Amino acid sequence: MSTAYVNDDTRLSWGRVVRSHHLIAKPRFVDEIAPALADASVMGLRALPVGLGRSYGDSNLNPGGALIDLSKLDRIVAFDTQNGVLRADSGISLSDILRFSVPRGWFLPTTPGTRFVTLGGSIANDVHGKNHHAAGSVGCSIRRVGLVRSDRGALELASDIEPELFAATIGGLGLTGVIAWAEIQMVPIVSAYIEQEVLPFDDLDSFFDIAEASQNTFEHTVAWIDCTASGRHLGRGLFTRGNWAPEGGLDAHSDKLKLTMPVDGTPLAFNALSLRVLNTMIRTAQSFKAAESRVHYEPHLYPLDAIGAWNRLYGRAGFYQYQCIVPPDGRAAIAELLCAIADEGAGSVLGVLKSFGPKRSPGLLSFPMEGFTLAMDFCNAGARTHALFARLDAIVRAANGRLYAAKDGRMPASMFQTSYPEWARFAKQIDPLLTSAFWDRVSQ
Ligand SMILES: Cc1cc2nc3c(=O)[nH]c(=O)nc-3n(C[C@H](O)[C@H](O)[C@H](O)COP(=O)(O)OP(=O)(O)OC[C@H]3O[C@@H](n4cnc5c(N)ncnc54)[C@H](O)[C@@H]3O)c2cc1C
Repeated sequence: MSTAYVNDDTRLSWGRVVRSHHLIAKPRFVDEIAPALADASVMGLRALPVGLGRSYGDSNLNPGGALIDLSKLDRIVAFDTQNGVLRADSGISLSDILRFSVPRGWFLPTTPGTRFVTLGGSIANDVHGKNHHAAGSVGCSIRRVGLVRSDRGALELASDIEPELFAATIGGLGLTGVIAWAEIQMVPIVSAYIEQEVLPFDDLDSFFDIAEASQNTFEHTVAWIDCTASGRHLGRGLFTRGNWAPEGGLDAHSDKLKLTMPVDGTPLAFNALSLRVLNTMIRTAQSFKAAESRVHYEPHLYPLDAIGAWNRLYGRAGFYQYQCIVPPDGRAAIAELLCAIADEGAGSVLGVLKSFGPKRSPGLLSFPMEGFTLAMDFCNAGARTHALFARLDAIVRAANGRLYAAKDGRMPASMFQTSYPEWARFAKQIDPLLTSAFWDRVSQ
């Protein structure tokens, strides 16, 4: 079988900063992947496999080249109801996996803050979730991967079959080949509900105290941070923690949107004053309901999925997300980062702080490590935003931290190469036909 390429000028990543031309093929069957790679090669184009485009920056873009969009390759191949092993095509969304598995009493081992990502995209970024401190990243639960390469054809990988290529493919940014299918170890659940607590905290030290106290007793933890607070309130926010409820039923979520952004927003809505007001309003509203409650997994794990196309909120110039991680001794660096952001009056209402645990993924380029991760959105205000990022980079580098490629669209090559020491070992496993805008930039 073969699949045709079509011209496309509309493909954007989630941050909507880079607008460029691609040729796109959308295979629907696994045996259409190899011809798509061969066709790109015949046209003299480098290629990149992509999923649902939920990476923020340029790791899922290949301007002027070919994209192999796997989102139509979306079938469940097999599910072992005894031990929870699920094999599926790589383009299936996590949303579709859950709609299949939850009524059967199984959940994903971990999930990012949106369910509208593909299985292949999750593996290629080795995604993490609110349970990283307990479960590690998704790479810890991937048993087998079916990979199609332009130079070697179809391969099967596991920790004991081609272990080096397997390790490179977990968190491999789509560069080691096209993931055609994968086998993931699901986890059993007895209900689709989470017993959740929301605790307001007044400063950063309180965040660290609550995070430490919750580490062994709560499976899901995350904090929303008020990026406008400074002085003695620096780092104040709301800490959400929860565990699976013992009862409530096994009903899966609905994909019906409650709200959709119809048009691009205006960046003026995010000036320093309005940000301060918005952050205070969120904190006040949430504080009133700061208590224990039983909620479905959907609002607990995927609060942003309720609003369709919320990435248009930041206007036509788009936005960046800055997500870093620093090791456990980097608490002072988190304070410095928040000071710099508050100082600039930048950031947004979507600021998140979370502690990561020691469980290591096999991935050579995996972002997670033990420590604290801070993620925040910033309107694209050109040079001013980049100047702030240079300040934040210096703090992260001094703390021996690193940035998350899934969120990045501007990290300097030197920062990538220093903070991902296995990058040269990884580079030996790259499929010679594949590249991305991200890789072209950071591998120089
Ligand atoms: C609202 C929101 C919340 C998020 N929260 C989190 C979070 O909590 N934790 C987290 O870790 N991430 C989070 N993310 C990021 C997101 O989980 C990752 O960017 C994810 O990889 C996107 O998957 P995708 O299917 O959209 O892939 P794309 O963005 O299209 O591609 C991502 C990468 O995967 C590669 N790729 C895609 N499919 C394949 C394939 N079949 N074979 C080989 N390579 C492939 C691409 O080349 C690219 O490098 C969030 C994103 C959003 C928008």
